[in-house]
Amino acid sequence: MSFRITWIEAQRSFEAAATETVLEAARRAGVALPSECEFGGCGTCRVKLVQGRVQYDEPPLALSPEEAGAGYALMCQARALADLAISTERLLDAPAPARRCNATVLGTQALSRDVTRLMLACEDGAPFVFRPGQYLNVLLGEAGARSFSMASQPGSGEIELHIRRIDGGYFTETLLGSLHPGDTLEVEAPLGGFGYHEEDYRPIVMAATGTGIAPLRSMLAAMMAAGDAPPIELYWGARTEQDLYLHDEFTQLAGRTEDFRYVPVLSRAGATWAGARGHVQDAVLAAHDDLAGHALYLCGSPAMIDDARRAFMARGASVRYLYADSFTFQHPQPAGEAV
Ligand SMILES: Cc1cc2nc3c(=O)[nH]c(=O)nc-3n(C[C@H](O)[C@H](O)[C@H](O)COP(=O)(O)OP(=O)(O)OC[C@H]3O[C@@H](n4cnc5c(N)ncnc54)[C@H](O)[C@@H]3O)c2cc1C
Repeated sequence: MSFRITWIEAQRSFEAAATETVLEAARRAGVALPSECEFGGCGTCRVKLVQGRVQYDEPPLALSPEEAGAGYALMCQARALADLAISTERLLDAPAPARRCNATVLGTQALSRDVTRLMLACEDGAPFVFRPGQYLNVLLGEAGARSFSMASQPGSGEIELHIRRIDGGYFTETLLGSLHPGDTLEVEAPLGGFGYHEEDYRPIVMAATGTGIAPLRSMLAAMMAAGDAPPIELYWGARTEQDLYLHDEFTQLAGRTEDFRYVPVLSRAGATWAGARGHVQDAVLAAHDDLAGHALYLCGSPAMIDDARRAFMARGASVRYLYADSFTFQHPQPAGEAV
C-alpha cells in the first residue's frame, strides 16, 4: 500500500509506501526534505502535518507527546498511515547549498580544560557563507563525519569552532590535539536548520549547555549587529566557573546592552559562586512562571533539550516558537555517559 505525500511549500508530491519512512520516500523521489541525524534525535526533519496521520516504530526522541499532539511529525521516523499534506512553513531556508572544501587549520587554543577553539579557513579563499546557528561536518573518511557549530560570524574567510573533548573520542581527543597551523581538514558546510526566526518578534530565552553556546553566540552577534532584536535572556549551563569560557564576553555584552540579560548556571559550583546553581533549564523555570509569550532557543546536550522542551511546554511555551539544536552523538553513546 502507498500514500501520496504533498509538501505544501515546495509544491512537490511523491508516493510513500506504508513500509518506508517519509524521508526515505522523499529521497527516492528526489525531493530534498530537510534532515540531519536520521534517527529521530535532532528534530531537523520536523514538519507540521496539515493533513493525514503517521505512525512510528518507537516514539522519536526529538518529538515530545505535546508536539505530536500539536500535529508535528519527524519525517525520518514517520511512516504514513494516509495521504499526507506536510508543511515546513516555520523552517528557515538555507542561505547556501552545502559544499565541500579543504579547510586549512589556522590555529587551536585551549578555552577551558576540555574546550578547544579551532580556527579554520577554506583553502580556496572563498568567504564562508552560512546562517548563524548552522554547523559544519568535518569529514574523516572511513571514520565518518563529526559535526561542529560555527561560533563565528558568516562572510569572513575564517571559521571559529568550540570543540569539547569527549573521552575516547576519535576526533576530539585523538586528532584535534595533533592539529597544527597549515594542516588540512575536509569539511562540508553549511548544514542544519537551526537559527534565529526574526519573524517571531517576541522576547527570547536562549538556553545552552557547554559548547552548545557556540551557535547561540553566532546568532547573538548577528542579532546585535542588526540592532532590532527583541529582549534576550541567555542562560548558559556549565559544571564549574572554569567551564564558562565566554563569561567575560557575555558579562560585558550584558553591561552595555539594555535588553540583554546573561545568566550563567553552574551544576557543580564552588562555595564562593554567587550565581544560579543547578540545571540550566531549572534556572529558566525559576525566572518564568509563564513562557507562553516567548520564543525559545535550546542548544547542547540531548538530555537538557529533552528535559527543557517538556518543562517549558508545561509552562506554556508553544512548540511553534521552540527551536532546538541537539548535539546528538554520531556514534552509540556508552551506558551512563553524562554530558
Ligand atoms: C548538529 C551538531 C552540532 C554539534 N556542534 C558541536 C559543537 O559546536 N561543539 C562540540 O563540542 N560538539 C558539537 N557537537 C557534538 C560533536 O559532534 C561530538 O561531540 C563529536 O562528534 C565527537 O566526536 P569524537 O570523534 O571525538 O567522538 P567519537 O569517537 O565519535 O565518540 C566516542 C565516544 O563518545 C561518545 N560521544 C560522542 N559524542 C558525544 C557527546 N557530544 N557527548 C557525550 N558522548 C559523546 C560516543 O557515543 C562514543 O562512544 C555537535 C553535534 C551535532 C549533531
